[in-house]
Amino acid sequence: MTLSFFDEDKRFCPECAGYVRFLQSPSAAYCAECGNEVMLFSPAEMKNLRRDIKGDSGDSEYRQIHRESAG
Ligand SMILES: [Zn+2]
Repeated sequence: MTLSFFDEDKRFCPECAGYVRFLQSPSAAYCAECGNEVMLFSPAEMKNLRRDIKGDSGDSEYRQIHRESAG
Protein backbone atom coordinates (compact mmCIF):
# COMPACT_ATOMS: atom_id res chain seq x y z
CA MET A 1 0.00 0.00 0.00
CA THR A 2 1.33 3.39 -0.97
CA LEU A 3 0.67 6.75 0.63
CA SER A 4 2.05 8.80 -2.22
CA PHE A 5 -1.29 9.96 -3.57
CA PHE A 6 -0.80 13.40 -2.06
CA ASP A 7 2.07 14.00 -4.44
CA GLU A 8 -0.33 13.76 -7.35
CA ASP A 9 -2.91 16.00 -5.74
CA LYS A 10 -1.53 19.38 -6.67
CA ARG A 11 -3.02 22.76 -7.28
CA PHE A 12 -1.97 25.85 -9.14
CA CYS A 13 -0.28 28.59 -7.15
CA PRO A 14 -0.25 31.99 -8.90
CA GLU A 15 2.62 33.09 -6.69
CA CYS A 16 4.82 30.12 -7.60
CA ALA A 17 3.38 30.09 -11.15
CA GLY A 18 3.05 26.34 -11.12
CA TYR A 19 1.45 23.32 -9.57
CA VAL A 20 2.39 22.85 -5.94
CA ARG A 21 1.53 20.74 -2.97
CA PHE A 22 -1.03 22.44 -0.80
CA LEU A 23 -2.52 22.57 2.68
CA GLN A 24 -6.24 22.01 2.80
CA SER A 25 -8.38 24.07 5.16
CA PRO A 26 -12.18 23.86 5.40
CA SER A 27 -12.70 27.00 3.32
CA ALA A 28 -9.67 27.13 1.06
CA ALA A 29 -6.39 25.54 0.09
CA TYR A 30 -2.97 27.13 0.50
CA CYS A 31 0.37 26.63 -1.19
CA ALA A 32 2.77 24.54 0.86
CA GLU A 33 5.65 26.62 -0.49
CA CYS A 34 4.57 30.24 -0.08
CA GLY A 35 1.22 30.12 1.75
CA ASN A 36 -0.68 31.81 -1.05
CA GLU A 37 -4.18 30.58 -1.81
CA VAL A 38 -4.09 28.00 -4.59
CA MET A 39 -6.55 27.33 -7.38
CA LEU A 40 -7.86 24.09 -8.84
CA PHE A 41 -6.78 25.11 -12.33
CA SER A 42 -4.20 27.38 -13.86
CA PRO A 43 -5.50 30.45 -15.74
CA ALA A 44 -4.69 28.75 -19.03
CA GLU A 45 -6.73 25.69 -18.14
CA MET A 46 -9.53 27.94 -16.91
CA LYS A 47 -9.67 29.54 -20.34
CA ASN A 48 -9.92 26.13 -22.00
CA LEU A 49 -12.70 25.09 -19.65
CA ARG A 50 -14.70 28.24 -20.32
CA ARG A 51 -14.36 27.73 -24.05
CA ASP A 52 -15.57 24.16 -23.70
CA ILE A 53 -18.60 25.24 -21.68
CA LYS A 54 -19.46 28.05 -24.07
CA GLY A 55 -18.96 25.69 -26.98
CA ASP A 56 -18.50 28.41 -29.57
CA SER A 57 -16.11 26.21 -31.53
CA GLY A 58 -17.46 23.05 -33.11
CA ASP A 59 -21.03 23.95 -32.16
CA SER A 60 -22.43 23.88 -35.69
CA GLU A 61 -20.86 20.48 -36.27
CA TYR A 62 -22.51 19.20 -33.11
CA ARG A 63 -25.92 20.42 -34.25
CA GLN A 64 -25.49 18.85 -37.67
CA ILE A 65 -24.83 15.45 -36.13
CA HIS A 66 -27.93 15.78 -34.00
CA ARG A 67 -30.08 16.82 -36.94
CA GLU A 68 -28.92 13.83 -38.95
CA SER A 69 -29.72 11.35 -36.20
CA ALA A 70 -33.08 12.97 -35.54
CA GLY A 71 -34.19 13.17 -39.15
ZN1 LIG B 1 3.13 29.19 -3.84
